[in-house]
Amino acid sequence: MTELNHLTAHELLDKLSKKEATAQAIQDALYTRIQKTDKKVKAYVRMDKLISSKSIKTKAEEPGRNGLNLYGLPISIKDNICTQGFITECCSKILQGFNPPYNATVINKLKEASAEIFPLKTNMDEFAFGSSTENSYFGSTHNPWNLDCVPGGSSGGSAAAVASDEAIWALGSDTGGSIRQPASFCGVVGLKPTYGRVSRFGLIAFASSLDQIGPITKDVRDAAILSQIISGFDPKDSTSINQPVPEYTKSLGLDIKGLKFGIPKEYFVDGMDAEVKIIIQEAIAKLNTLGAFSHQVSLPHTEYAVPVYYIIATAEASSNLARFDGVQYGYRAKSDNLIQMYKKTRGEGFGDEAKRRIILGTFALSHGYYDAYYLRALKVRTLIKQDFDKIFKDFDCIITPTCPTAAFKIGEKTKDPLEMYLSDIYTISVNLAGIPAISIPCGFTKNGLPVGLQIMAKAFNEEVLFRVAHVYEQNTQWHKLKPKL
Ligand code: GLN
Repeated sequence: MTELNHLTAHELLDKLSKKEATAQAIQDALYTRIQKTDKKVKAYVRMDKLISSKSIKTKAEEPGRNGLNLYGLPISIKDNICTQGFITECCSKILQGFNPPYNATVINKLKEASAEIFPLKTNMDEFAFGSSTENSYFGSTHNPWNLDCVPGGSSGGSAAAVASDEAIWALGSDTGGSIRQPASFCGVVGLKPTYGRVSRFGLIAFASSLDQIGPITKDVRDAAILSQIISGFDPKDSTSINQPVPEYTKSLGLDIKGLKFGIPKEYFVDGMDAEVKIIIQEAIAKLNTLGAFSHQVSLPHTEYAVPVYYIIATAEASSNLARFDGVQYGYRAKSDNLIQMYKKTRGEGFGDEAKRRIILGTFALSHGYYDAYYLRALKVRTLIKQDFDKIFKDFDCIITPTCPTAAFKIGEKTKDPLEMYLSDIYTISVNLAGIPAISIPCGFTKNGLPVGLQIMAKAFNEEVLFRVAHVYEQNTQWHKLKPKL
């Protein structure tokens, strides 16, 4: 018999509604799995919570709001999303012991729908700075498909937990690719929603103009259900957009006949792994046989996306991280005077990548360089957005690889930050333009590592992403394969 933790959320919701399973039994199955495999995968941090959390009561009897009832189904949460009562540290020493006094809006929305928040948080790169989860204060997560490889990042813990059936589904955050890239590396589904679609209230900020919370799931239907729950206007987030949230599951099952897909030529150039290229081309051919048309298009400013992102994201990060000085949150270094305390706290509390970004960002914002770097980057960001606007006048979606390669080895890129930054070359433009994109499994390399297909759409058109992704998924088997652990 299939263990409960191997099922998707919608399969489990079906069982829960028919009383063929209980939320407690699902949690027990997860704990058993975690005890067996998380020593190898290390998707979760703060394992000491394991025993006390057994006492969690189920919510099976409580109805959810808006007809959405999750019957106490557990969800795993990235360590940068505030969960009241559970330590939230962004996998950084500087937030050591931080117990948020409130829940992020997404957590409240999940609770209103009667979800159970899983008490273990998932591993991530410190403050979401990274593409491999190697920058976590707690050490690296391992890719369930090959334990010598990274799971991607920064939401590597969430993606690895879902891929290894240590989670039913999970939340991640995506500033430059941190949901889609690990989803691609771990063979699961990951969605970066439109900027403003999901409240950022309670998400510990990395780069406020780019950050979005989104789902990491075992299939497209689960991504649609979870998006439905977490999306919507929130007066507590000034960048939240007041627009009704469509019923995303209604997009599932519609065909894709006649849809037009743009294939940007700038995404199929040197640096892309030859095997990945073939897998992506096959996936596009498959979509065409299912009734879509694809044409080559151009996004001419693509080459500037990585440099523009690393100016804007680090500038915003340097400002957002200024508040961590030992006074109000987390870690405080011992010292006998205030200035020394600030210095020592930040010196000891932040890891290398965080320091690198604070220095880069502070430099980009400093007097004399602000115009030359930051302001110019903002202007090029607009050009990148206009490239997308132009394409979406004529096309429904843009199809690309999620990443230029499959998962790389742990340690392979840690010595060269620039090489690590290039891992996000296909995901970053989406954040700069504020549009939504999904990554779905579309094949495996000869070494048995998953490859992800990225589908982008215009702002607030998540529906077309679910529609296309679901049609592709229903006509392929990739999402059904499981790593052997
Ligand atoms: N890997 C990118 C970075 O390091 C994106 C991270 C993210 O989306 N949080 O900035």
